[in-house]
Amino acid sequence: MKVDLHTHSLASGHAYNTILEIAKDAADKNLEAVAITDHGPALGFVQYPNYFHVLRRIPDELFGVRILKGCEANILDTEGTIDIGEKVQRRLDLVIAGLHVIPGFPRDLGPEGNTAALVKAIDKNRIHIISHPFRPGFPVNIKKLFSACQARHVLLEINLSVLRDELDNEMVVANTKELVDLALENKAKLVINSDAHFISEVADDSILKELSFKVPPEIVLGVGGYKEVAEFLADK
Ligand SMILES: [Zn+2]
Ligand SMILES: [Zn+2]
Repeated sequence: MKVDLHTHSLASGHAYNTILEIAKDAADKNLEAVAITDHGPALGFVQYPNYFHVLRRIPDELFGVRILKGCEANILDTEGTIDIGEKVQRRLDLVIAGLHVIPGFPRDLGPEGNTAALVKAIDKNRIHIISHPFRPGFPVNIKKLFSACQARHVLLEINLSVLRDELDNEMVVANTKELVDLALENKAKLVINSDAHFISEVADDSILKELSFKVPPEIVLGVGGYKEVAEFLADK
């Protein structure tokens, strides 16, 4: 991996490194860019919105690595409301959004209901990436979600942390395969992210070798380097 667009720092409250440590680790791993995407306030984050507001004071480059300032926002309801406002969204280099277990979000929507909430979220907000679109508890209709994301220039994520935890989960593996096939058929891109909560996880994609199918590099954003990522981000 040359870029990792989804990592968590101490500010998430349940991750264990500073931004400086993440940047240094990314440099040691020869990454061109790393995104710091701490959780939005619905997951217990303190000092909202000030933290995200001031985030841009961090230099754009640390140890020779491009540092992208982002957030992993939470989808709050079936109307696709997310937990960071428009002003904060505009101040960030990238916005990831995903379904998490948070108070108030229904857990029994099923694939069509979850998909509808995600599609409404990308319609209403400046979202670049949908994190872990398939995980236990939040099934989605991958085909429908893929089409909606393609139409709105939003990328779906292969989340390496979910894959590592759920390698025995048939739904997760089957959905990953379906997503790869859809990207290939449509000559579309996906994004592969670590969702690291500790630096040993940053850019560690070794779990992909455990899959019975390959994820071809031509469908992965940023395989050639940061330039392609910058173009994608500048599109919104
Ligand atoms: Zn997440
Ligand atoms: Zn995350």
